[in-house]
Amino acid sequence: MDDCIFCKIVRQEIPSTVVYEDDVVKAFLDITQTTPGHTLVIPKQHVANIFEYDADLAAAVFSRVPKIANAIKASNPAIKGMNICNNNGEVAYQSVFHSHIHLLPRYTAADGFS
Ligand code: 5GP
Ligand code: ZN
Repeated sequence: MDDCIFCKIVRQEIPSTVVYEDDVVKAFLDITQTTPGHTLVIPKQHVANIFEYDADLAAAVFSRVPKIANAIKASNPAIKGMNICNNNGEVAYQSVFHSHIHLLPRYTAADGFS
């Protein structure tokens, strides 16, 4: 997909701060740090959203999320929890049409974020 912004990130045509990468997925910091460490996990293969996955791709991508979530949590002791969400379709607030899973670290109010 020539014009897809996340395909360009996969091909390193657009810079990103990489959190994790292997043959199937790339995880990088969201440009909008909704909470510190906000990360997107994307399949390297272009699929617009969940409606374009087959079972094998879904298993490969989603099964990697716990390892990435644990790596993010281990990187910062202030991270006490994490919201994980995946928007599919414009009406579900998807704005980039290359599938991505949001990992949103959560903190206590005492740490300045919640
Ligand atoms: P969506 O609204 O589709 O669920 O989420 C798209 C996310 O992609 C947004 O949180 C937005 O900040 C992020 N995003 C959009 N463009 C870029 C970019 O060029 N680089 C990075 N790292 N994130 C982006
Ligand atoms: Zn793409």
